[in-house]
Amino acid sequence: MMTNQKSIVEAMGIPPGGNFRGDCPFCLHKNSFSVSRQDGRLKWYCFFADCTAKGDMVYEPSAQEIFSQAHSGYRHASGRRASGSRVSGYKVPSSFINIRESQKCMDFVLRNNCYDAYKLDLCDIMYDKVLDRCVFIVNNGPHIKGAVGRALGNFKPKWYMYGSSPHPFICGEDTQGILVEDCPSACVIGAAGFSGVALLGTSVKPAYMEFLLSVYKSLVVALDRDATNKALDIAKELSYYIPITVKILEKDLKHYTVEEAKEFLK
Ligand SMILES: [Zn+2]
Repeated sequence: MMTNQKSIVEAMGIPPGGNFRGDCPFCLHKNSFSVSRQDGRLKWYCFFADCTAKGDMVYEPSAQEIFSQAHSGYRHASGRRASGSRVSGYKVPSSFINIRESQKCMDFVLRNNCYDAYKLDLCDIMYDKVLDRCVFIVNNGPHIKGAVGRALGNFKPKWYMYGSSPHPFICGEDTQGILVEDCPSACVIGAAGFSGVALLGTSVKPAYMEFLLSVYKSLVVALDRDATNKALDIAKELSYYIPITVKILEKDLKHYTVEEAKEFLK
């Protein structure tokens, strides 16, 4: 198995110092595979619990090998979130499957305007077939830090935290973070070309603070009208550390289309 994996990973033609995050060539899961080539070593790993893809080898290919790789026709869909080479943190359980395998999950994703962000590869969304949840993967750069799952039936909790990540769910790469309550709202913002940050509630968890201040130059709090006071509290608290403004929403952001969100946020 290892030998077989080795030749497949070699054939990907990762350049020196390069990283790739993408679909796993072994288990075929979406965006679960990470490979890097650093300091003369090639390392690869798949985040899926059931997948055996894993390796670490000395790798200094000959000119001939590099030539044949260049002609192997393999092209990466460039990992836009691929940077850094260390794989750490949360291990995605094997109960997480592609959202397309669950009509119920697809319906949820479509109804809450998350599909654009998913399709644009701005975030990873999966279906947890054991807990029956639509799962939003929490990333920090190329690292999977945890996940947040929304119940797809009438059971509690409505939102479930997998892992114990000190990172919020974010979607989009702008330097201005737009703070919202939930993951679907963050997806709408990401797809509109901004950066949505899901607070997973109406307050800023202390653990998120350091992350927010290190990633963003400025923040906008965008909460529902019925959470106006919370929004003002958050803005007041954070204004000591970072430029921050408040936007009060007429309706839940996840019920905005991407076009409406663009209009609202510009
Ligand atoms: Zn795999």
